[in-house]
Amino acid sequence: METKNCLQELRKIKDAAFATVDKEGNPQVRIIDVMMADEETIYFCTARGKDFYQQLSCDSRVAITGLNKDFQMFRLRGRARRLTEEKMWIDRIFENNPAMNTVYPNESRYILVPFAIEIEEMEFFDLGTHPIHREVLSPSHRETIPHGFHINDSCIGCGRCKKLCPQQCISAGSPFSIRQEHCLHCGLCFENCPVKAIQKRSDS
Ligand code: SF4
Ligand code: SF4
Repeated sequence: METKNCLQELRKIKDAAFATVDKEGNPQVRIIDVMMADEETIYFCTARGKDFYQQLSCDSRVAITGLNKDFQMFRLRGRARRLTEEKMWIDRIFENNPAMNTVYPNESRYILVPFAIEIEEMEFFDLGTHPIHREVLSPSHRETIPHGFHINDSCIGCGRCKKLCPQQCISAGSPFSIRQEHCLHCGLCFENCPVKAIQKRSDS
């Protein structure tokens, strides 16, 4: 799946969970509307009086996730960037989301501050298919932290991991290998390899 399609799906889901970190370092999460999406980012807004706004002002890091009715999950991590030309962006957001006029009628809309996300990593995770399917995307072309597990050359080919894998996504070979796009990251293979040939990809 391409980045722009993931972003459009988040816009269709619209009500997504936005996580931030507060100034005490505590995780905070709430549902926020994805107001617009283009090929590179999503747009949202929040009011200057809200704790969410204060948290973004102190620490711009955000994690966002949404699930559609087909059990496809879209997740992204990045930084919230406050947009300049705020009134223009708020007007655009209201044009694209007319229901906002009920919540913030007339000039009260300008208590809202518009943001876009500088996306560092995105993930598409489809739990509605078998085997499951996942893709990690890096729209900013940064190096992403690898997730999940891989099998190194210490593998003795016993086949234990392949037998245990709940998604049947381990292939025989020398060494055996994991089809990453179908892996749950559950760790069952990792915990059961007799020669510890399975490692966390983030550790290598
Ligand atoms: S359990 Fe370990 S040694 Fe056995 S096939 Fe899997 S990776 Fe190789
Ligand atoms: S982590 Fe789980 S799903 Fe992935 S290969 Fe290992 S056993 Fe299979």
